[in-house]
Amino acid sequence: MSVPAFHATRNEPNVQSNNLPPLAPAAERLRRALIDDRRIVESLPQDRRPPLISFQRRSKIGNAWAGSSLYSAALQDHFARSLSLHRVTVPSNAVISRQSAPFVSGNGRLSTVLAKPCLDPRKRQRAKWEREKDIANRRKSPGKTLLDPLQHAPLACRGAQFNDEKEASLDPPAKPLTLAQRLGIVARPPPRLTSDEWEIVKDLSLKRDNGVDPCPICQEPFTTEHQVLLSCSHLFHRACLDSYERYVQKKSCPLCREANYEKRLIFEGKKRYLHTAATIIQKTWRMWVKRRRYQTYRKNHPPNDRRLLSSWHMERLSDYTDILAQQVHFESQELQSFLREMDNTLAQSRTTINETSAKFASLQVKACLTQEEWDEITSRACERGLEDDCAICIMPLCPAPKAGSKRPAKQLTLLSCSHIFHAQCLKCLEKFDNNLHVHACPVCRTEYERILL
Ligand SMILES: [Zn+2]
Ligand SMILES: [Zn+2]
Ligand SMILES: [Zn+2]
Ligand SMILES: [Zn+2]
Repeated sequence: MSVPAFHATRNEPNVQSNNLPPLAPAAERLRRALIDDRRIVESLPQDRRPPLISFQRRSKIGNAWAGSSLYSAALQDHFARSLSLHRVTVPSNAVISRQSAPFVSGNGRLSTVLAKPCLDPRKRQRAKWEREKDIANRRKSPGKTLLDPLQHAPLACRGAQFNDEKEASLDPPAKPLTLAQRLGIVARPPPRLTSDEWEIVKDLSLKRDNGVDPCPICQEPFTTEHQVLLSCSHLFHRACLDSYERYVQKKSCPLCREANYEKRLIFEGKKRYLHTAATIIQKTWRMWVKRRRYQTYRKNHPPNDRRLLSSWHMERLSDYTDILAQQVHFESQELQSFLREMDNTLAQSRTTINETSAKFASLQVKACLTQEEWDEITSRACERGLEDDCAICIMPLCPAPKAGSKRPAKQLTLLSCSHIFHAQCLKCLEKFDNNLHVHACPVCRTEYERILL
């Protein structure tokens, strides 16, 4: 669609709308409304036309002349795009006039102002549908209405992992030129740096600090972290610069205060760090290998110098002495284990001999008493009397027989110490002390021989 002819009569450029970028919905509606109003005014007779103050007035903006509907629409579209208003769904003209209208306040945040309530029930219902549709659209794409310019960077520039060896730009992709910028009403943004220009900036940065200066923000050296080069040739850690930008809420180089810089992810610091680490490892390995070879050579080849030769012979002699000492130490350990085993065997033999001698001694005690001695022991026990109790069960040795009882009297045992017990009680006591080879009298604690009375 070509622009109407009356635009060309006012010395305005005849621009084909097919070549222009699409306008924001609000700006497009405003432009069409202005064109319709103008056609209505043009169709009226000359004496009935209203005063066209806005069409006749001209003012200079930059190096271009404004005052037409196309220029005003282009300018409004430019501001809407620069403030990201085209991301917000705007209701139609009828609803805007009566319902809440979005606008950008001084601090850049989107606000709403409530207008007078509409009394027409059909319009109110339509406005309600528009609001519900707007809320549904925002829920479908929650990130699109944010106005923070730092959030407009694509995902690949913000959180995604980069190939470690590939440099990449951290800036969001360049926006297409608005109509106002194409017409020259607003200055165009400066062109972005090319790859060759980035190489020049990188060389300038590396030559300045020789690649050894730390990050100016955290004062830590550049190791394997991501490194960001600004178009002002200053280098930072990527995380440090992101934190700084979040803190100051604007783009400003921490060193030179350059605004509107471009960022590029580079890996020069990581390459230099890995190269330094690899050099240190290789140097240490080569040094160790050389040292081992030299020590082996010195051990096998005697020196020509006479003084060094004597020390060399001393070292060899000390080596052989060490080997001999190690051998002796090993043999002494074996001797110690042999002696320990002999001690154990000797202790077992001694225990066996003691047990055997104890048994033999008890046999000797039993064999030494004769009949005369037993008669003497019996007479000694009878002198003491049989009225005492058995010391084991604390019951009378000879209880009085009950009338009519046919139970036989308990058997008594006389010990060689002249003490008398119930035979059954003494047998139980000996059974209880079965692990002892020599039994002792429970009263006088002497070894005994026993007979039944
Ligand atoms: Zn840092
Ligand atoms: Zn800078
Ligand atoms: Zn008893
Ligand atoms: Zn006794």
